[in-house]
Amino acid sequence: MNLHPETSAISAGRPDAAPDASVNPPLFLSSTYHAGGPVGYGRYGNQTWSALEDAIAELEGGPTLTFSSGMAAISALFSILPVGAPVVASHEGYSGTMGLLNQLHTSGRLEVRLVDITKNDEVIAAMKGAALVWLESPTNPSLDVADLHTLISEAKKKGIGVGVDNTFATPLTQLPLSMGADVSMHSVTKFLSGHSDVVLGSLSTNDEALLKRLEEARRFNASIPGPFEAWLALRGIRTFPIRFRAAESNAKELVKRLSEHPKITKVRYPGFGAVISFEVDGPVEDVQKVCESSRVIIHATSLGGVESLWERRRRWAGESISVPERLIRLSVGCEHVEDLWSDIDQALAVL
Ligand SMILES: *Cc1c(COP(=O)(O)O)cnc(C)c1O
Repeated sequence: MNLHPETSAISAGRPDAAPDASVNPPLFLSSTYHAGGPVGYGRYGNQTWSALEDAIAELEGGPTLTFSSGMAAISALFSILPVGAPVVASHEGYSGTMGLLNQLHTSGRLEVRLVDITKNDEVIAAMKGAALVWLESPTNPSLDVADLHTLISEAKKKGIGVGVDNTFATPLTQLPLSMGADVSMHSVTKFLSGHSDVVLGSLSTNDEALLKRLEEARRFNASIPGPFEAWLALRGIRTFPIRFRAAESNAKELVKRLSEHPKITKVRYPGFGAVISFEVDGPVEDVQKVCESSRVIIHATSLGGVESLWERRRRWAGESISVPERLIRLSVGCEHVEDLWSDIDQALAVL
């Protein structure tokens, strides 16, 4: 049966029905298994991971592997590329990914070609001879959006692999595998888990051979999820669609109000999702003070939780210098929108 994501988020990854079978998958804590089964050892598999992987697979539309973090998932994919393989990626994106790409390029492990992913011509020109196109869309924290349909079909015409970081859009907004991408990746840490208490990642793919190589990478690099984290993430996924919709509806209202605020010079919002980046007028120290003056919104990094978080991204030394100093990234949560607005309004009053 083809279920809506609101339903599969709730029904996927449950044990088979039988009298007194548990409704929820139990937390499996075992490093080893009786001989003769398909799992065998705790670095190769775990029933709690499998339950979570089944749920993400339903949402993303492809078999899924979970990893110890989003970065571990990205690293696993890059690790199976040949030495010196050309990789096309956005010149701006999640700071961890940018740092990793930079390191892999400098060491000669990969040949990284950085492009403006909003410019199709530039991305397509850089594809010549590439092994992989890595598309983070929308980007973190600038919220640039790539034309995924065009870029994926161009890459596939040329026989190039495509991976999409689907963390910000989530499967409720875009389904990279259905657009032809080879891999859809998540920082499960963010919207899927949704409670800022777990660090996890995932890769989904419909390519059986690729799935096998990625599973091997996870096995050998040992970037495996903890069973408890997997259990928490699955519990979080049950409410992911309603949390995401509630947060998105708050975000849309806040975008309207932020756009009219005299102290805000620019609001970035892709038109969907629950992350807003905006630029504030005034000295950088004052912009920093705005983030430190909230009472409901938590001054912290990360995103995708039920609780609203914000921060000035450039407070991190690792953030790209092309991200404006006065840019605040706001991850909108599920609080009442009027409480969020009152909080933003009073925090901006420090300016
Ligand atoms: C957070 C994030 C990551 C990294 O995920 P971790 O779970 O922190 O390792 C990758 N991509 C994007 C877009 C992110 O926001």
